[in-house]
Amino acid sequence: MATQNAAKVKRLGVIGAGQMGLGIALVAALKAGVPVTLVDNSQASLNKGLAFAAKDISKKRITPDQADDARLKLTGTTSIGELAGVDFVIEAVPEIPQLKFDIFAKLAEVCPRHAILATNTSSIPITRIAAATTKDPKDTSSSSRVVSTHFMNPVPVQKGVEIISGLQTSAETLDTAITFCRAMGKIPSVSADSPGFLANRILMPYINEAVICLETGVGDRDSIDSIMTNGTNVPMGPLQLADFIGLDTCLAIMRVLHLETGDSKYRPSVLLAKMVDAGWLGKKSGKGFYDY
Ligand code: NAD
Repeated sequence: MATQNAAKVKRLGVIGAGQMGLGIALVAALKAGVPVTLVDNSQASLNKGLAFAAKDISKKRITPDQADDARLKLTGTTSIGELAGVDFVIEAVPEIPQLKFDIFAKLAEVCPRHAILATNTSSIPITRIAAATTKDPKDTSSSSRVVSTHFMNPVPVQKGVEIISGLQTSAETLDTAITFCRAMGKIPSVSADSPGFLANRILMPYINEAVICLETGVGDRDSIDSIMTNGTNVPMGPLQLADFIGLDTCLAIMRVLHLETGDSKYRPSVLLAKMVDAGWLGKKSGKGFYDY
């Protein structure tokens, strides 16, 4: 059953050529060996992404033929309509609920009736994303194919992936998602469609608390990151990690945790929101808690 499902995925679509989408596309081409159609609404992001991927492939410990093969497997387009021939699609656009709902409504129209429609959302309920694929909730022909494959950043490095079913997700969809992630060399964990799922439910309050410690003067930036790297043996401190994830993404996830649970323990740090207002989003914008 599982092997059959892996074999079923002959072509992948990825929407969003940002840091996550690009990583997912690269790993799928290199490890799962599937051709990938990368969709982004910005031609500039697409060009930047494909150029980065081509360069990154050259650094891998693979033969020149294997590198050429991986490069040829990645194609870019600004038209979502080009996903008409994919068996599996992974959406990785910014964490804006309505944007994702609109994209899933469109995917239900353009993708083949058997295609799995996966999202990389960090915090938006899968059940709600699945509901956006149909105007008739009784008709689950599209919503049963929606699932979350929540990859970790940076995708080529982190082995873990969270797989989350919505209320409508079928057992076959879940099984295909698990099997395909394994074919990408990842180690899946299954979690419930609950605010923040598992990884962010645990990680984001930790990052948020570090920012609150900074804003209330409990410690300066370097002390906060130093005590956590040197004291808990993690590769980077919480503020540097926030910069790598993107401060806008961290804020969006805290807001969802706060809103969905109504629990004040998830109140986003005021400083985090101010930094996002300033456009200091971390590594991707060149400035966050550190300068890049
Ligand atoms: P990003 O900002 O780096 O990339 C998003 C890309 O989507 C951009 O290239 C943008 O041009 C493109 N885009 C925007 N609107 C689009 C549209 N309508 N159609 C097609 N493309 C569009 O974002 P990211 O950090 O890669 O995050 C993507 C998703 O992955 C989010 O849901 C985020 O929560 C999730 N996620 C992020 C991380 C992380 O550490 N950054 C980790 C796990 C999950």
